[in-house]
Amino acid sequence: MINQDTIDTLRKAEVGARRLFIDGTQVDAQSGASLQVISPIDGRPFASIADGAAADIDRAVASARKAFAKGSWSRAAPALRKKVLTKFAELVEKHALELAVLGVRDNGTEIGMAYKAEPLSAAGTIRYYAEAIDKVYGEIAPTADNVLGLIHKEPLGVVGVIVPWNFPLMIGAWKIAPALAAGNAIVVKPPEIASLTLLRLAELAAEAGLPEGVFNVVTGRGSVAGEALGLHMDVDAIAFTGSGPVGRRLLEYSARSNLKRVFLELGGKSPNIVFADAPDLKQAAVVSANGIFRNSGQVCVAGSRLLVQASVYDRFMDELLKATTKLKVGDPLDLGSDVGAVSSAEQLTKNLGFVAKAAEEGARLVTGGERILAETGGSYMAPTIFENVTEKMQLAREEVFGPVLGVMRFETEEEAVRLANATVYGLASAVWTSNLSTAHRMVRAINAGVVHVNTYGGADITVPLGGFKQSGFGRDKSLHAIEKYTDLKTAWINLG
Ligand code: NAD
Repeated sequence: MINQDTIDTLRKAEVGARRLFIDGTQVDAQSGASLQVISPIDGRPFASIADGAAADIDRAVASARKAFAKGSWSRAAPALRKKVLTKFAELVEKHALELAVLGVRDNGTEIGMAYKAEPLSAAGTIRYYAEAIDKVYGEIAPTADNVLGLIHKEPLGVVGVIVPWNFPLMIGAWKIAPALAAGNAIVVKPPEIASLTLLRLAELAAEAGLPEGVFNVVTGRGSVAGEALGLHMDVDAIAFTGSGPVGRRLLEYSARSNLKRVFLELGGKSPNIVFADAPDLKQAAVVSANGIFRNSGQVCVAGSRLLVQASVYDRFMDELLKATTKLKVGDPLDLGSDVGAVSSAEQLTKNLGFVAKAAEEGARLVTGGERILAETGGSYMAPTIFENVTEKMQLAREEVFGPVLGVMRFETEEEAVRLANATVYGLASAVWTSNLSTAHRMVRAINAGVVHVNTYGGADITVPLGGFKQSGFGRDKSLHAIEKYTDLKTAWINLG
């Protein structure tokens, strides 16, 4: 259980200057340069991270390659990997509150959500893949009698992991855990504005017994350290979550270097569709408000386009407004806050740019639309709703990644499907209806990696997450994720 006193003690912990984690130990960036870490809670610096660059990536990749070639992890019995990863999960759980508070100081997510979604979820993910890995079998091919065809599953080698700042531990673990479980060595490039928890994660992995060089972390800027990882000739795959433009760059880097595999989990503009026969409009409104505004809308699957059937539009909007204005925005380390800070001053400015554009294009502001709590020095934004949004407006097309909801109304199911799919993205969606047939038709009709029915969000590690269309390709989570980190090798044996 978490309590306010412990949180208040942990929030004062000295963090200081954090170094890179390479070959099982902390090292400075070769340039000696560092980046300030500014908390979005109050706009003040509270730590620094090493500003890693190409030379540091080279060093980390060399360390990972050496560890991989040595085989003490890559060729270890799955049962041994399982034991170490299980210990790793236990350590993450043991340090969960420390990790959660550190992460919140870095990125501003409300602590109640961060605690569950970050360390606890990461620990669960690590445990899931630890338990799975000694249940992955090779195959015997149905060949002719004089031949034995064996299909082996082998780790890829060195995997680069690049993640965003909204949930670095949770999203990091979705890649780190299956990659390690399968026997790979990894180099993680955390997001520059939220690196601290992933550095700590690497230390906990070492404490759990992961051999040196298997888990390396190089902090630094995406355009420098991230690019160097993407272009590296000795990296076998990149597992990425982040924005579309950076995803495209990673594909180019692969083409320009060694054709490494690239798995992309990108953004979304997910439709949340409320039919007039939704089982409980009030509950749908509360869940929909949470589905866009928690973590200040910085959730890849956020339901950022709300489609409401005309006959219940006014009633639903009343309930939505009530649920939204009830959300308390404030210090993310206060257990009483429902919504914390926007991750950085830059992101807040970007969000306000979307607000200005929506108003200019003729959408009607229902609530919010402004920075609040400016006296704290932090980056806080009021949950914002625009209605009368049309398909052509920026708010209907582009991902804000902030607490801004665009609302449209529809008359028929056909119109709802057309509007829902009128986007280049295809990450998530939801449908609210009491009609089983409508629900199933919508699940088939919506082009997205997940369709929620009578809920928004909510999933566990057993189901895959990933996008259709420009929301990317490759799936995180579930047993399917292991496939990304293994390769198939055929042995064709002549039996004479
Ligand atoms: P971003 O693309 O700017 O950065 C993501 C990571 O890429 C960071 O670690 C960054 O340092 C690195 N990076 C930046 N430039 C790079 C380059 N040239 N080469 C290599 N790496 C580089 O994204 P962000 O602003 O951190 O995160 C927000 C985005 O992430 C949103 O679009 C959001 O939808 C997406 N996201 C997707 C999912 C999902 O599962 N599909 C989950 C969370 C966030």
